[in-house]
Amino acid sequence: MKFGADALMLIYDRLLERYGAQHWWPAETPFEVMVGAVLTQNTAWSNVEKAIANLKAMDGGLGLESLLAVPEERLAAAIRPAGYFNIKAQRLLSLCRFLHRHQGLERLETERLRAALLSVHGVGPETADDILLYAFDRPVFVIDAYTRRLFSRLGLVDGKRGYESFRGGFEAALESDSALFNEYHALIVVHAKAHCRTRPVCGECPLRDRCPYPGSAQ
Ligand code: SF4
Repeated sequence: MKFGADALMLIYDRLLERYGAQHWWPAETPFEVMVGAVLTQNTAWSNVEKAIANLKAMDGGLGLESLLAVPEERLAAAIRPAGYFNIKAQRLLSLCRFLHRHQGLERLETERLRAALLSVHGVGPETADDILLYAFDRPVFVIDAYTRRLFSRLGLVDGKRGYESFRGGFEAALESDSALFNEYHALIVVHAKAHCRTRPVCGECPLRDRCPYPGSAQ
């Protein structure tokens, strides 16, 4: 799959002009980014915020050692607002044990680090790429449901394309710049919530003149 760099940067510029810089990820530490990346699977961010607030309120706060010391049932109760809390507690603990076992991950080159993250129970491509981009500052493009929806509506990609094909298309077209990828993904999410929703609100969309999606011109 090939994207045109000019088309991608025009979209980026329009979104940046409309919404301003987002300065993601909303977290205080890289570890909090990783926890949030697991908790946000299949749920809205507002639910993740409640779960993270609960984790911060626990004895020892939100840190690798403190989470490892918490019984799984207590961890599951704390993250209940994020949904699928028993599964996510197992996934969080798997990630924590992995981070505890593997010191110096930041020294791995990106593809090796990605492969290592993908070996962790419950970490799929999107979660791994959230962690790579927002916790390790690596230039990987995160493909989530918002990205698929927006770019398929814009006619630039088949929304059913495989994750790696989608990601590779972005990364091949754009300058390999983690700051750009960070901001671009954040802007896509903001735009998908403001306008390009499940039922799109196209009237004031900054991409309307570029969009062939049925109904966008009305
Ligand atoms: S015009 Fe509508 S469908 Fe197209 S990108 Fe904007 S909100 Fe989405």
